[in-house]
Amino acid sequence: MILRPKVRGFVCVTAHPVGCAAYIQEQIDYVKRQGTIKDGPKKVLVIGASTGYGLASRITAAFGANAATFGVFYDRPSEEGRPATPGWYNTIAFERAAKTAGLYAKSVNGDAFSDDIKRQVIALIKAGLGPVDLVVYSVASPRRVHPKTGVVHRSVLKPVSQTYTNKTVDTDLGVVSDITIEPATEEEIADTVAVMGGEDWEMWMQALDAAGLLAPGATAVSYSYLGPEVTWPIYRNGTIGLAKNDLERAARRIDAMLKAKGYGRAFISINKALVTQASSAIPVVPLYISVLYKIMKAQGTHEGCIEQMQRLFATQMYNGSALNFDEGGRVRLDDLEMRPEVQRQITEIWPQVTTESLRSLTDIDGYRVEFLKLFGFGLAGVDYEADVEPHILF
Ligand code: NAD
Repeated sequence: MILRPKVRGFVCVTAHPVGCAAYIQEQIDYVKRQGTIKDGPKKVLVIGASTGYGLASRITAAFGANAATFGVFYDRPSEEGRPATPGWYNTIAFERAAKTAGLYAKSVNGDAFSDDIKRQVIALIKAGLGPVDLVVYSVASPRRVHPKTGVVHRSVLKPVSQTYTNKTVDTDLGVVSDITIEPATEEEIADTVAVMGGEDWEMWMQALDAAGLLAPGATAVSYSYLGPEVTWPIYRNGTIGLAKNDLERAARRIDAMLKAKGYGRAFISINKALVTQASSAIPVVPLYISVLYKIMKAQGTHEGCIEQMQRLFATQMYNGSALNFDEGGRVRLDDLEMRPEVQRQITEIWPQVTTESLRSLTDIDGYRVEFLKLFGFGLAGVDYEADVEPHILF
C-alpha cells in the first residue's frame, strides 16, 4: 500500500517501515562517523528502547561501542493492511542492522511496568546475554498498571497549585493560541508520579540484582529535563516535574544500592528538549522547541537525540572521560540549550510569536520535518510513491 502521514493533533497514526529503517540508518551512520567509543559498555539493557532517547542510546551503545543490546519497548505491531507504530519498525530495522554487523540484539515488545515482562526479559537475558554492565531506563508513558495493586495510573501534564496560562501551538495547523490549564488534583499528582517517577526503574534494578544479572561495575542511567523558566509551571514545577523529582530520588537509591553491592553507579542525565512522541504531547513545549531550534540551528549548536546520546557516551560515560555532575548530582546535556545567550533570545522572541509570525520567528517547519521523521516520513532516498508492505515481523 501507499503510506502517507495522517496527523491527528500531536500524533501521526501511520508510520512508514522503509522510512523508519532509513531513519535508523541515518542515526547508525552518525554514530559510526564519530568513531569508536573506547572502553564502552559491553552488554546493555535499554528499557524504552524503540524511539527517542532510548533508541538513540541503544544505537550509540551498539554502533559506537560494539555492545550487545537487549531492548524493551511497547509498540503496536503491524497487521495485514495496517501499519505498526514506529517503534516496531525502528526495532526491526535496528535488529537487522545489528545482526548484519555481527552484534547481539534482542528485544521484547510488552509492558515494562508489568511483573510478567520483567520475568520474561530476565529469563531471556539469563539464557542469551548474561549480566549487563549498563541499564538505560528511558520509558515515557501516559499510563501504568501498577504490578502489585493492579491500579491503573494515568499521568497528566498540569501545573501544581496554580492555574497556568501561556502560549501554545497546534503544530499541525500552525495556530498559536493561549492555553489555560487548571492545577492538578492531589490524586492526579500522585498518579503522574506513579507513572513517570522512579518506582519502576527501582523495581527493574532490584529484579536484575536478585537474578544475578548486574555485571561488575554496572551503571544505570535515566533521563530528565529541567528547561527554562518559561516552561517551569508546566514542566519543572508541574506534575511531570514532581514525577522527575521522584526519578531523582530513585536514582539516589539505586546509586546507593549499586555502590553498597560493589557495582558501579546510577545517575540522571538532563537532556535537551527535542521533538519526540513524548514531548509533542506537552502543552507549550512544542512552541518552545520551535523557537529553540531556530536559535540553536543559527548558532550551529543544534543536536538531536542521537547527537545527545553519542555525546553522553563519548564525553561523559566512556572514552576515558569522567561524569561531570552539577550541584544536584546530575549530568547536564542541556548545557547548550541553557546557555544564557540562547535563553535571552528565547525570552525576547517568545512574546512576539503569533500565528502570523510563527514561521518567521520560529523553526516550526523544522519541527514538523522532525516530527514526521519520527514516523518514517520525509527521509531522503525513500520513494514514498512506491507500494510498501506495512506488515513486517521480526
Ligand atoms: P519516546 O516517546 O520517544 O520514547 C518512549 C519509549 O518508552 C518508547 O520506546 C516506548 O515504546 C517506551 N514505552 C512506553 N511505555 C512503555 C511500557 N509500558 N513498557 C515498555 N516500554 C514503554 O520518549 P522520549 O522523549 O525519548 O523520552 C524518554 C525519556 O527521556 C523520558 O524519561 C523523558 O522524560 C526524557 N526526556 C525527554 C526529553 C524530550 O524533549 N523529548 C528531554 C529530556 C528528557
